Amino acid sequence: MQKNFSAHFKSNPVFDHVSAAGKELKVPVYVVGGYVRDLILKRPSKDIDFVCVGSGIALAKEVAKHLGNDAKLTVFKNFGTAAIHHKGFEYEFVGARKESYRENSRNPVVEDGTLEDDQNRRDFTINAMAISLDEESYGELLDPFNGMEDLRNMLIRTPLEPGVTFSDDPLRMLRAIRFATQLKFDIEPDTFQGIIDHVDRIKIISQERITDELNKIIMTDKPSYGFQLLFHSGLLKLIFPEMTDLQGVEKIHGKGHKDNFYHTLQVLDNICEMTNNLWLRWAAILHDIAKPATQRFHEKAGWTFHGHEDLGAKWVPNIFKKFKLPLDERMKYVQKLVRLHLRPIALVNDRVTDSAVRRMVFEAGEDVGDLMTLCKADVTSKNPERVKKYRSNFKKVEKRIREVEERDHVMNFNPPVSGEQIIEVFDIKPSKVIGDIKTEIKEAILDGRIKNDEKEAFELMIKLGQKHGLTPVEKYLSTSSDK
Ligand code: ATP
Ligand code: MG
Repeated sequence: MQKNFSAHFKSNPVFDHVSAAGKELKVPVYVVGGYVRDLILKRPSKDIDFVCVGSGIALAKEVAKHLGNDAKLTVFKNFGTAAIHHKGFEYEFVGARKESYRENSRNPVVEDGTLEDDQNRRDFTINAMAISLDEESYGELLDPFNGMEDLRNMLIRTPLEPGVTFSDDPLRMLRAIRFATQLKFDIEPDTFQGIIDHVDRIKIISQERITDELNKIIMTDKPSYGFQLLFHSGLLKLIFPEMTDLQGVEKIHGKGHKDNFYHTLQVLDNICEMTNNLWLRWAAILHDIAKPATQRFHEKAGWTFHGHEDLGAKWVPNIFKKFKLPLDERMKYVQKLVRLHLRPIALVNDRVTDSAVRRMVFEAGEDVGDLMTLCKADVTSKNPERVKKYRSNFKKVEKRIREVEERDHVMNFNPPVSGEQIIEVFDIKPSKVIGDIKTEIKEAILDGRIKNDEKEAFELMIKLGQKHGLTPVEKYLSTSSDK
């Protein structure tokens, strides 16, 4: 494999600028970490980390001068680091450092160090490689832990004894699993054992950093791999016990149900082939989350999970809160999909009325397409004939959704009669009856008793008002009888 990267450095003038700035300041300079790894793996990357044996801030200031007016420099004085944003690239500059950790603190004692010290404190062998930008060794790879070999063998391995690396910063356990999932690598056995031995240390890591890594796992092509690693290491039990509760099959009189953990992982992988929407992927993770809590055995019917969709939806806000995920419309979206995930299945039967289809479109609104995606992903039968049958059933449901929506426009339902109109027509003060009338009109539209149009809704409003003991003012009486 390649050992000199000087040819690559022609691709971006920043490398020459950093090299020149290092020479001026008389400090050794290197490209380091993820960029080097991704360069060797031929993964494109817009983040480049530079390390120098000296002041990272002074180096960044010098490089910014070289880059000119387009460069936006930010100095993080407290951390002794600086960043430059330039033409869509993000450059980070740090001085090489040595870190020593104390048993009871997350925060290491940091001192200036050599390049080797800096490489020692990095998380994995494949993330600890540096390439020199000094004139005499320009483009040379400095790879003290043979990260190159691990890249070739597709292995995640800590540079030091795993116990040291993981107890120094337990987030690295999640990073190991995240990189394994992103890169489709194995975790080297001693490194994996190191995770198993230190899972409890994850408790000192902030939820934000944990969730960040989890979301990165969820955004890979095949997150099931990451979740299996989380599960088998014991980390999942600590960070997401609701999910480990899905695992296992209970048997009564020889009758079992499917293992909901592996089913959920399959649904998640399926949906990842259909969408990059993080929240739709979260809906897949959570769609059956309340199955264990609703699981019952009936002598005749076997295993049932009645109401798991409603209970699951009810849990979504707390789960989002715990993970420090947003509690805004994104949470509501996931909640809605969890709550409705069985509805399209109920619509497969040809005898189902338009009204049922209309109600689902009304409730799902613009997310009805995503709901159908979730339902398709939810088909995990191992029997290809059955999968084919289910998929074609869903095509039929989609056709009916289109037909109903074209005719009745309930997806973005706008009440055809407004509260103001009701007030004017019956000359009444704002009161509860207005809401009641509006609800009854909406129900009539969803049931298909009237069309979703202003004329039919107006006529019904007059009738409903009268039923509630109201009388339309004169001019509306005549309009209503004209109609
Ligand atoms: P990506 O940007 O794709 O997440 P990356 O490897 O660049 O991957 P960053 O989090 O950007 O990851 O970190 C850059 C580099 O800093 C890493 O390659 C690694 O060398 C080092 N690093 C980051 N976080 C840690 C950590 N928790 N412990 C040790 N080294 C770390
Ligand atoms: Mg990075």
